[in-house]
Amino acid sequence: MSFEALGLHATIVKAVNEAGYTVPTPVQAQAVPAAIEGRDLLVSSQTGSGKTAAFMLPALHKLVSAEVAPAPARTPAQEAQSARSRGERVRFTAAKPKMLVLTPTRELALQVTTATEKYGSYMRRIRAVSILGGMPYPKQMQLLSKNPEILVATPGRLIDHMESGKIDFSELQILVLDEADRMLDMGFIDDIEKIVAATPASRQTMLFSATLDGVVGNMARRITKDPMVIQI
Ligand code: AMP
Repeated sequence: MSFEALGLHATIVKAVNEAGYTVPTPVQAQAVPAAIEGRDLLVSSQTGSGKTAAFMLPALHKLVSAEVAPAPARTPAQEAQSARSRGERVRFTAAKPKMLVLTPTRELALQVTTATEKYGSYMRRIRAVSILGGMPYPKQMQLLSKNPEILVATPGRLIDHMESGKIDFSELQILVLDEADRMLDMGFIDDIEKIVAATPASRQTMLFSATLDGVVGNMARRITKDPMVIQI
C-alpha cells in the first residue's frame, strides 16, 4: 500500500515521501480514503499512530482540489477595499478559515501546524497558523489578517477571537478535534460546543480520541453525521 494508492494528490504524495514516509500507517490507510470521500470520522488512536497525517493529508487534498476551482468571488481584502470606497470605516475583516483543528495544548497545536507546513510544502496558497493562549494578541491579529485557510487552535483563545468578531466560520469545510478526550478532561466542553455551533452544518467533522466511550463518545456522536468509526 502506498500513499498514491490512497487517492492523494501528487503534490501531497511528493511531500510525504520526502518526509521519509513510504507506507501509510493503519490509521492513515483507513482514514484517508474515507475522508477524501467526505465521510465524517470517529477515530480511536494513540499519539504515535500517525493520526496527524490521517486527518491532515485528506484535508490538504480537499483544499488543493478546491484550488483549481474558481476563486471565491471576493477576498476579505477586496471586501475591505470596497467598503472603504463606500466611505465605511474598516477596522478589521474577519478571517474566514476553511479548516479548523482544535487541540488541547499549545505544544500539540504547534506540532500540527509544523506537520501541515511539511505535508503542504508543494501547495500554493495554503497557509496554516496557530492561535494559542499565551501568544500576544497583536501577533495573532497579524496572523489572522492574512486570512489563512487553516487554523490550529486551543479552544479558549479561539473563543476570545470568535467573540470579538475576528474569525468568521461561515466558510468552514473541515473541523478536526484532536485528542478530544483530553480537551474534555481539561474542561473545554462548553468552549467546544460554542465553536461547533458557530460552524456550518455542512462541514466534514473528524474526531480523534484515545477513547470513544462515555462523555467523549456522546459529544462525538452529536457533532458528526453517519461517521465511519475507526478503532486502531
Ligand atoms: P502522530 O501520531 O501524528 O503524532 O505521528 C507520530 C510520528 O510518526 C510523527 O513523528 C510522524 O512524523 C510519523 N509518521 C506519521 N506517518 C508516518 C508514516 N506513514 N510513516 C512513517 N512515519 C510516519
